[in-house]
Amino acid sequence: MKVLKFGGTSVGSVESMSSVKHIVESCREPVIVVVSALGGITDKLIGTAKIAVEGGNAYEHGFREIVDRHIAMIHGAVDSRKRDELLSLVEPLLDELGNIFKGVSLIKDLSVKTLDTIVSYGERLSSLIVSRVIDGAEHYDSRLFIKTQMQCGKHIVDFEETNRLVKAGFNPLPRIAVVPGFIASDKSNGDVTNLGRGGSDYTAAILATALDASQLEIWTDVDGFMTADPRVINTAYVIERLSFVEAMELCNFGAKVIYPPTIYPVFHKNIPIFIKNTFNPSAPGTLISEDNSHAEGKAIKGISSINDTCLITLSGMGMVGVIGINSRIFNRLAKSGISVFLVSQASSENNTTFAVRNADAELAVKVLREEFRHDMAVGEISAIEAEKDLATVAIVGENMKHTPGIAGKLFNVLGRNGINVIACAQGASETNISFVIALGSLRKALNVIHDSFFLSESQVLNLFVVGVGTVGKDLLQQISKQQQRLLETKALQLRLVGIANSRKCLFDREGIDVEHCQELLDRSEMVASPEKIKDEIIKMNIFNSVFVDCTASPDIAALYKTLLDHNVSVVASNKIAASGSYDSYRELKQTARKRDVKYLFETNVGAGLPIINTINNLINSGDKILKIEAVVSGTLNYIFNVVGADVPLSRAVRMAQEAGYSEPDPRIDLCGQDVIRKLVILAREAGYRVEQSDVKKKLFIPDDYFKGSLADFWKAIPQYDAEFEQYRRQVADRGKVLRFVATLDHGDVEVGLREIDSAHPFFHLEGSNNVILLTTERYREYPMVIKGYGAGAEVTAAGVFADIIGIANIR
Ligand code: ADP
Ligand code: ASP
Ligand code: MG
Repeated sequence: MKVLKFGGTSVGSVESMSSVKHIVESCREPVIVVVSALGGITDKLIGTAKIAVEGGNAYEHGFREIVDRHIAMIHGAVDSRKRDELLSLVEPLLDELGNIFKGVSLIKDLSVKTLDTIVSYGERLSSLIVSRVIDGAEHYDSRLFIKTQMQCGKHIVDFEETNRLVKAGFNPLPRIAVVPGFIASDKSNGDVTNLGRGGSDYTAAILATALDASQLEIWTDVDGFMTADPRVINTAYVIERLSFVEAMELCNFGAKVIYPPTIYPVFHKNIPIFIKNTFNPSAPGTLISEDNSHAEGKAIKGISSINDTCLITLSGMGMVGVIGINSRIFNRLAKSGISVFLVSQASSENNTTFAVRNADAELAVKVLREEFRHDMAVGEISAIEAEKDLATVAIVGENMKHTPGIAGKLFNVLGRNGINVIACAQGASETNISFVIALGSLRKALNVIHDSFFLSESQVLNLFVVGVGTVGKDLLQQISKQQQRLLETKALQLRLVGIANSRKCLFDREGIDVEHCQELLDRSEMVASPEKIKDEIIKMNIFNSVFVDCTASPDIAALYKTLLDHNVSVVASNKIAASGSYDSYRELKQTARKRDVKYLFETNVGAGLPIINTINNLINSGDKILKIEAVVSGTLNYIFNVVGADVPLSRAVRMAQEAGYSEPDPRIDLCGQDVIRKLVILAREAGYRVEQSDVKKKLFIPDDYFKGSLADFWKAIPQYDAEFEQYRRQVADRGKVLRFVATLDHGDVEVGLREIDSAHPFFHLEGSNNVILLTTERYREYPMVIKGYGAGAEVTAAGVFADIIGIANIR
C-alpha cells in the first residue's frame, strides 16, 4: 500500500485533475490519495474571511469566485454521470460556507475557531471532487481520524489517538481512498482544526506511518526536490537522492516543497518519500530515504532560506560563566509557543543570539524582559534587543561531515561579494551550516553560494559594459563569439547584465542577449548618466559582478571607488583613474584589496600587450624595476613611420586619426598627454610614487599649436609641416629614426622625442607597434623586451577580455 499526496496546483485545473486520475488509476496496489484544496483556494478563503469581518457584503465577490471555481471544476473534470450526485454533496457545503461568511460579516468577529472552520472547506470540497474524478475511489473524512490537541497555542497531532483511529478506519483497506489533507479535529471537543499551512503533506505522512505504507509520494508542480528554490535560482536543478536528515534540514530552513513536520514520522519508520511532478510524471523525481549510499559525492546537496528572520540578542558581562541562563531563555520562549530556529553563542558567553520569525519577535522580547527583569535591574544583563528584517540561509549536505574547507569557502565567497554575516551556527553533526544576513542580500547570497559550490555546473561572471564605441563594440563581439566555448571548456558563464553608452542604458539580471545587445540598447527607454548607471548596479546587488569601462570618460572613472566598495570588480581600458592623482590611484587599489575584488587595467598601456601583468609578476617575485624605456604611443609611432618626403606631418596626423589609432582629439597624443598618462601608470605599478606633473616633457610641436579649438589645430598644423620635414630629413641623413620615448629611470620620469640609431631595439618598430624595455635587478645586462601591436580596437578589446577572464581565475 502507498500514500500519494497531490498539492494545490496538482488539483488546480481540469487538465491537472486528469493527470491525477491517470496517475492514481495506474497504481496496482491499494492507494490512499491525500489532496490539498484547489490551488489558491486556501488563500482565497482566508482573504474572503478577512473582508467579511469588516462587515457589509463586500465578501460576496470572493465567495462567488470560490463557488464558481468549484462548480466549474466539477463540470470540467467529473464525468456527467456522477455530477448530480456530487453537486448534491457540494452545494450544501458551499451554502454552509456562505452562511458562515455572512455570520462573520454580521457579527464582525473572526475567531481562530471560525477561521479554522472556514479554511477546512477547501480540502473538504476538493477531496469530494477528486473522489468522483478517480474511478473506484472511496471518500474518507480525515477529521474523523486525525486528532489534535492544544499545546502552547498550537494544534499538535495526538499520535496515539490518531494512529489508533487511522488503523481502525482503514481496516479493511480500500483499493483507492481519497482523503482531505490539512484538516483535523480537536481530540477533546471535536472542533475542526488543521495542521498548519502546507499541512496536507503532513496528513499524508501520518497516514503512511500509521498504515506502514511501502512509500509516500508527494506529487507537486516541480520535477523534484531542487538544489535551491527555483523561483530564486533559475539554475537550480533536481537532486536525485537525499537522506532523511538532509531533507529535514532543507525543509526546516524554508524549502517549501515539503512541509517540515512531514519527514519525521516517515523517517521513524524508514518509509521512503518520492517527490514527483504531476505535470511531468515520467521525470524520475527525488527519492528521500535512509540509504544514502548513492550520494552524488557533492559536499553540499542544497541551499534553503527563511526570509523572515529576527535576531534576538541577550548580552551582559553578568552572563559569563553563569549556569542556567540559556535554560531560562529557552524555557520562557517555549512556554510562549515561540519556536527558535538558530542559536549562536560565542565561547566568551557574554551574549546569546537566536533567530525567530519576525512575527514572534515582539512577544519574545517582551517575555524575556519579564524573565530577566531583575538581572537587567542589577546590570548583569545589559540589553535584550531584536534586529528585524533579516534572512537565514542554510547549506545542507551529509557529505560535509569531515570535509574541511566548506565553511571557509562559504564565508570567503560571501565576503568577496560584500555580504556581511551577522550570526552563524553549525551543529556538530556537520550536516548544516546556517547563517543570518540582511534580507536585502538574500537573493545575491543564494546565487553566489549556488554558483560557487558548483551546484550549478558553471561559474558565472555578471558583466556591466559601459562604452560601446570601438573597443566596447569589439569586446561584445568577442564575448558573443567565445561565450559558448568558455561555458563548455571552462565552465565559465559570462552573463551581460548591463550595458550603457553615453545616451542610454539597459539592465537585466537574467542576462542580455550579447549578439543583439546593441539593438536592445538602442530600443531602451532608460536614459544613461554616470549616477544612474552606478545606482542601478548597486540596486541590482548582483553577485560576482564586473564593471567594464570602455569609455574615456572622467565621470565614469569617478564611479570606480563606489563600485569597488560595493564589491563590484572593475576592468578599465579607460586610463583616467589609474593616471589621476596618486592618492586616488592608491585608494582604488586598497579598496579592491579590502573588498577582495579586482581592479584591472592592463590595456591602459600597450593595449593587449602583457606589460602591467609582467611588471606585477616581477615585483611580486622579488625583482626591482630600475628603468623603463617605452614607445607606448601607437599613434605617434604610426605618425613617425608614415611621415616622409611625400607625407607631411599634418597628413600623417590625419591618417592616424582616420585609421582609429589616435584619440578622437589627436592633440591628446601629440602633446604627449597620452604617453604621460601611460608612463605614470607604469611607474606606479613599478612601485614609484609619481604624479603627471612630475613628468618632464620634450615635445616636438610648439605649444602654440595646442591653443584654441580642434578646428583651429587642423587649420594651423600644415604651417608646421615644412619645419618638421627639415628636422626629420636631418635625422634620417644621420641614419636615425624619431621615436617618442617614455622613460622611468630610478624614479625620474620623462617623455620626449629621441633620435634612435639602428643598433637600438626601438629602431625597427613597424606601424603602430609598441615596445617596452624593462631593466630590472634580474634583467640588468639584457633588459626584457615586450613588443607588438600597441593600439587598435581588436587587441585592446582582447586585453580587456583577458582581464575579465582573470577575475574568474580560470586557466
Ligand atoms: P504543493 O501545492 O504541491 O504542496 P508547494 O507550493 O507547497 O506545492 O511546493 C512546491 C513549490 O515549492 C515549488 O513550486 C517551488 O516553487 C517551491 N520550492 C521552494 N524550494 C524548493 C526546492 N528546494 N525544491 C523544489 N521546489 C521548491
Ligand atoms: N491547502 C492548505 C494550504 O494551502 C494545505 C496544503 O495545501 O498543504 O496551506
Ligand atoms: Mg505544499
